[in-house]
Amino acid sequence: MEWSERNKYSSFNSMKGLTYYNNYQNILRWMDGKEPLGPPIECNLDPFAACNLDCYFCITQRYLVTTPQEVGPMKRLPLDYMLRLVRFLSDWGVRGLCISGGGEPTLHSDVPEVLVAAQKAGMRTSIFTNMTVMNNELADAMWGCQFVTWSINAADGETFKAIKGIDLFERVKANVCRLMERQGQAKTFVCARMLILPENIRQIHAVCRMAKELGCGGFSIRPVDFERDDIKGHHRLALPVDAVHEQFALCHEEETSEFKVFTVTHKFDSEFHVKHDFNECLAPPLLLPILSDGNAYLCVDKKMEAPFRLGSCFPNPETILEWWGGDRHRQMMKTLDINGCSRCTFGQYNRQIEAIREDSMMVSFP
Ligand code: SF4
Repeated sequence: MEWSERNKYSSFNSMKGLTYYNNYQNILRWMDGKEPLGPPIECNLDPFAACNLDCYFCITQRYLVTTPQEVGPMKRLPLDYMLRLVRFLSDWGVRGLCISGGGEPTLHSDVPEVLVAAQKAGMRTSIFTNMTVMNNELADAMWGCQFVTWSINAADGETFKAIKGIDLFERVKANVCRLMERQGQAKTFVCARMLILPENIRQIHAVCRMAKELGCGGFSIRPVDFERDDIKGHHRLALPVDAVHEQFALCHEEETSEFKVFTVTHKFDSEFHVKHDFNECLAPPLLLPILSDGNAYLCVDKKMEAPFRLGSCFPNPETILEWWGGDRHRQMMKTLDINGCSRCTFGQYNRQIEAIREDSMMVSFP
């Protein structure tokens, strides 16, 4: 069980991809050269390419620096540019803006202003953070988001340090408290996020309880992808699957109408290893990742990989229209070898688009 019956229509359920039916049709027609590619649903913006933690499993460690003071040009997007980008994206028809990383986005002091600008422009916003930074401006901007996801991965300082290189466990907890104190009438979904790692198997339930006690709206957990070949020391982990499921069961017992639990495993096989149950890469145009170097890449799993750079959109966001949906973009997807990919965030969407193309659900007959 990944979620309870009453919470099956959640952001974690990949079946939400079927609400993107019109986008799927557009992608298929565009791939056949029959119509232009429409705008992505979401822009995933990485404003800052540095982090104050040093997680050994980080999928962006290849291009991150861990000393934010040394961040140089194009590791930190300027505020003026991000505000112009938000205006462009909103006018173009992009619905969601997710501020995330590569890097810890809250280390960029202008992130609250960018979130508020997107909210005022009518976009839905979200932020992924390690919650080591908090101030009043940031808390206000977070409460304007549709959801806030913060990563934790440990139930005590010692484990936190073993996993993230430095013990900021108490600071993270204090920052979550500080955020939740301001809750008011906001509808923001604040979710603690955990990855299953060899070091934290026995702490899964404890972390879930901690998130509940801190007043969060939910707890989500999924297996780590330690198989990517750009992670230092990468290998196939042999995780004790039964012990994990025992912890999952305890987590689901914590669920209430105010606290939701998502033990998300459907993108992995039964041993929590990467799986590909699709044949083609078709879903990337649902989302546009823009990074702190002002470049956009094919998908969130290919950030800062030169062969998958779609083009630059710095300093003029409008230049996106020069390469988005162009022949090179289409060709990149047509020639992509999915065996060169590790975990695919959009794997289930790729599979759904294949099903739409085959019309295996016979959608003309509800
Ligand atoms: S991970 Fe690979 S298959 Fe998946 S969307 Fe990205 S490029 Fe395509």
